[in-house]
Amino acid sequence: MKKLAAIVFWVVQVSALLIFLVPFSWPLVALWAVSHFLRAIGLTLSFHRYFAHRAFQMHRAARFFWTYVGTSAMQKGPLWWAGHHVNHHRFADREGDPHSPLVSGLYYAHIGWFLNDARHDRLESTNPVIRDFSKAPEIAWLDTYYAVPPLLLAVAMYAIGGMPWLLWGFCLPTVTLAHSTFAINTINHMFGSRRFETIDESRNNPLTALFAVGEGWHNNHHRYQRAARNGFYWWEFDPTWYVIRSMAAVGLAWDIQAVPSRIYAEARTVKERRRQQPVASVTETIPMGLELAEDVEV
Ligand SMILES: [Zn+2]
Ligand SMILES: [Zn+2]
Repeated sequence: MKKLAAIVFWVVQVSALLIFLVPFSWPLVALWAVSHFLRAIGLTLSFHRYFAHRAFQMHRAARFFWTYVGTSAMQKGPLWWAGHHVNHHRFADREGDPHSPLVSGLYYAHIGWFLNDARHDRLESTNPVIRDFSKAPEIAWLDTYYAVPPLLLAVAMYAIGGMPWLLWGFCLPTVTLAHSTFAINTINHMFGSRRFETIDESRNNPLTALFAVGEGWHNNHHRYQRAARNGFYWWEFDPTWYVIRSMAAVGLAWDIQAVPSRIYAEARTVKERRRQQPVASVTETIPMGLELAEDVEV
């Protein structure tokens, strides 16, 4: 089964390259954007902020809708995804983290763990996601038959628009979305800024925030996981947060977890401290010779 899933994964990855065989058109680019961003919202809103972090409550029908949309992203089942994510936070960048580039290398943290994780694949029944949400039959069904939504999407795309729609509406956006999600696990633990001095290596990165609909504000998120928003300020683009807020406005979501004022105060304190520690100018910095590394006395 694992082998079959890995074969399907790689076939879809490679098939995205076939877009060059169909005539280019802007409506097809728009189709890619809808398929990428809508499924990204589904995945982020339900798998991540709802199941893994319980950042808000939502109407059961809305929950099924977004979980279905998220599952069609072909990133396995919602409970599998969210359960692993809980472990990511629990062991962030330490032994036990299912996907840390610092612990297990870049390729494994990006793709390898997702395809064949020998050590962390099985989730304990005490995992809070499994323990609480497998009781909802419609969610448990999606988690077991996670292959159904992406398969139906692929079939629908082909039925509506033939090969061009299959490639631009399913294959390419599935690949771009997979790497946008995986990049949060790798890029966001390597490149970007650190507003908060967390014990892990999480970073904020506007580029991944764009393609992963707000998830790129990952250092914020590691500092305060419970918040329904990952962009902590209005200028931090977080479309998932805008959708949650819109749902709340019409009564489909409630119990929205805010960022506490002590976290904003902490951000201000760190910023002020860094401002008072001027970086030494290049001329003042003593050039470090390679041989120094051996001479260092610990
Ligand atoms: Zn992380
Ligand atoms: Zn998280």
